[in-house]
Amino acid sequence: DGMKVAIVGRPNVGKSSLLNALLKEERAIVTQIAGTTRDVIEERAILGGVPFTLADTAGLRVTDDPVERIGVERTKEAVRDADLAMVVLDGSEPLSEDDRNALNSVRKDFGGQILIVVNKADLPKVLGEDDLHELAPGVPTVWVSAQEGQGLEALAESAVQLVLGDEPPSSDAILVAKERHRQAIMKARSALEEAQVTLEQGFPLDLLSVDLQRA
Ligand code: GDP
Repeated sequence: DGMKVAIVGRPNVGKSSLLNALLKEERAIVTQIAGTTRDVIEERAILGGVPFTLADTAGLRVTDDPVERIGVERTKEAVRDADLAMVVLDGSEPLSEDDRNALNSVRKDFGGQILIVVNKADLPKVLGEDDLHELAPGVPTVWVSAQEGQGLEALAESAVQLVLGDEPPSSDAILVAKERHRQAIMKARSALEEAQVTLEQGFPLDLLSVDLQRA
């Protein structure tokens, strides 16, 4: 079912836009009001040849609003389940307390890989490399523009590299994205193995054709 990615960050950094850009479709609702993505939206996408389940989360910020608080709890659950957390920042604004909290919360509770995604690279750059280094030394960072589609390939490459390590999926390896497909392929294989036995033992061709048809 793919590697799980949790997209986190304070409201308005562009998490939903990033999810949409990665899916190349309008699924999540993009709004200009902070804190409106209150539920976790999950979508499947193939990035760099690898299947991913992407969860756009409500954002991690300290809030008194009870509905938003449920969203924050769900975000934490999504992060716990993930193989990779993409912490999204807004490169056109200085780092805020909410950014620091979001990143620290992920670093504290999460055992998987973390990738910092600095969004809005199409706007004048305010967030500097020094800020990033001080905030999260050693955490890999990519700059993207979800709106313009900039940097998305590099983002996919980094995501694949972080979850699979240095070995890229070889082009002749078969990657099966669904459990149902895996089962079907295994059944086909065992039918082919039986066909081989049928052939080797000299059984009539109509028996062979039964095995082959099953495969
Ligand atoms: P979320 O709250 O983190 O999910 O953020 P949204 O995806 O709703 O985006 C918040 C605002 O930032 C919206 O007005 C988007 O149009 C805008 N936005 C998102 N990504 C970009 C980007 O790459 N460049 C620019 N200039 N604006 C963006």
